[in-house]
Amino acid sequence: MDAEIITVGNEIVLGQIDNTNGRYLADCLRRKGVVARWQTTTDDQSQNIMQAVKKAVNRVNLVFVCGGLGPTADDNTLAATASALRTHLAIDESQWQKIKQSFKVREKKMLKENIRQACFLAGGQPLANPVGLAVGSWWQNGVKTVVVLPGPPREFHAMVQQEVLPRLSTLSKSRQLVAELVMHYYGVPESQLMNTIEQSLVNSPDITATSYVQPGEVQVRLTTVATNQLQADQRLQAARQMVLASQSAGYFGDGQVSLAGQVVRLLKKKHQHVTAAESLTGGLLQSMICSIPGASEVFDGGFVTYAPEQKEALLGIKPQVIEKYGVVSGETAGAMADGCRTKIGADYGLGLTGVAGPDKLEGQPAGTVWVGLSGLDQPILTRRFQLDPHTGRQSIRLQSAQAALMMLYEQLTK
Ligand code: ATP
Repeated sequence: MDAEIITVGNEIVLGQIDNTNGRYLADCLRRKGVVARWQTTTDDQSQNIMQAVKKAVNRVNLVFVCGGLGPTADDNTLAATASALRTHLAIDESQWQKIKQSFKVREKKMLKENIRQACFLAGGQPLANPVGLAVGSWWQNGVKTVVVLPGPPREFHAMVQQEVLPRLSTLSKSRQLVAELVMHYYGVPESQLMNTIEQSLVNSPDITATSYVQPGEVQVRLTTVATNQLQADQRLQAARQMVLASQSAGYFGDGQVSLAGQVVRLLKKKHQHVTAAESLTGGLLQSMICSIPGASEVFDGGFVTYAPEQKEALLGIKPQVIEKYGVVSGETAGAMADGCRTKIGADYGLGLTGVAGPDKLEGQPAGTVWVGLSGLDQPILTRRFQLDPHTGRQSIRLQSAQAALMMLYEQLTK
C-alpha cells in the first residue's frame, strides 16, 4: 500500500527545525510494508493544508497529516483537513473532561480554544494521546484513510507506535514488503561507483540503488518492493551478483559490517595476527581494530611512531632509509610495516606515513599517504593514496586507516 505523509508547520518550511517526524513515520511504515511515495511539507495556512490533503487523497489511499493540533491560532490542521474531506469536527467527550481536569489540577486558567485539542474528524475515531492533550484522528471513507497526528515528536512517536501501527493491519491486504541490502565499498569515488552500478542494474527495474557517503566508505543500498520475502531475497541476491560482477574492486561486505570488523573476522578465521606502526594516524588504525569485540585474538600490540627518531628507535628502521627517501615515502612505509611485524612477531604488519595537513611536509601536499603491508614470507607491498585535502585533517587520518585496512582485507581475501 502507498501512503503520503503531510507535515505541517512554518518552522519546517522555514528551515528552523528538522522534519524528523516525516522520516520517523516513513521508516515505521516501510517496516510494515507501507511505502510513503510522497512526503509533502506545508506551512500553517489553511488553504495550503487543504490543498495538500486534497492532492494526497487523490493519489494514495492512506494519508497522514502531522502537526498543528494545538489550541493556538496558527493550529489550523484539523479544521483544514476536515474542510478538504468535506466533513466537520466532533468532540471526544472523555478527552475534553481530561483536559479540563488537567487544567484544574495544575490550577491553570483554561481557554475556550483548548476544546480544539479534544476534537477529531467527524465520522472517524479519536486516537488517544498517551503523553499529551491533543487527540489524533483515524478517518475512513471507502478505500481512503486519513490519519491526523500532533507534531511534538514525543507525542507523535507514542501515537504512531500505540495507535497507528496496530491499526494498519485493518487496512487493505495488498501489503508490500520493502526489503534492502547494503553493500560497502572503500576507495572508489561515489559518482564512478554509482555509474557502474546503475549500468549493471539497467535490466532490473524492481531494484533501486542509492548511495550514501560515510567517512571512509561508500554504502550502496539496493531496495526492492516485493510481494513476499522469497521474491525480495531472490531479487536482492540477483542484483548483488550483478553489482559485484561489474564492480568488485573496493567491495568489503554487506549488511551491518565495518572494514575493521571484516579484517578482524578474517584474521580470526585464519588464526593470524596483525600489528601496525602508525605515524599520521597516531594509533587510530589500532584503535579501530581494538573496537571490534574479540580483537585480542588477532592483535597483541603495536606502535605509534610520529617522529623519525622513534621510527628508528622503536622499529629499527635504518636512518639512511628516511634520509634517502623521506619520511613520507613508500620505502619508509614498507620499512615501518616490516619493522613492526618483526618486532611483534605478527603475521602482518601495516605501516602508515603521510601528510594529514593542513600544511605540506617535505614538499608533499596534505593528503599524500603511503601505506606499507608486510606479510610473513611475502614481498612487502606499498601503495600511495592521494586523498582530498579539503576533507580536513581528521578525515584524512580516518581514510588512511581505512586504506590500510583495505590493503589487508584484499590480502586476506585473495
Ligand atoms: P502543540 O500542542 O505543541 O501546538 P501541535 O500538534 O500543534 O502541538 P506543532 O505546533 O505542529 O504541534 O508542533 C509542536 C512542536 O513539535 C514544534 O515546535 C516542533 O518543535 C515539533 N515538531 C512539529 N512538527 C515536527 C516535525 N515534522 N518534525 C519534528 N518536530 C516537529
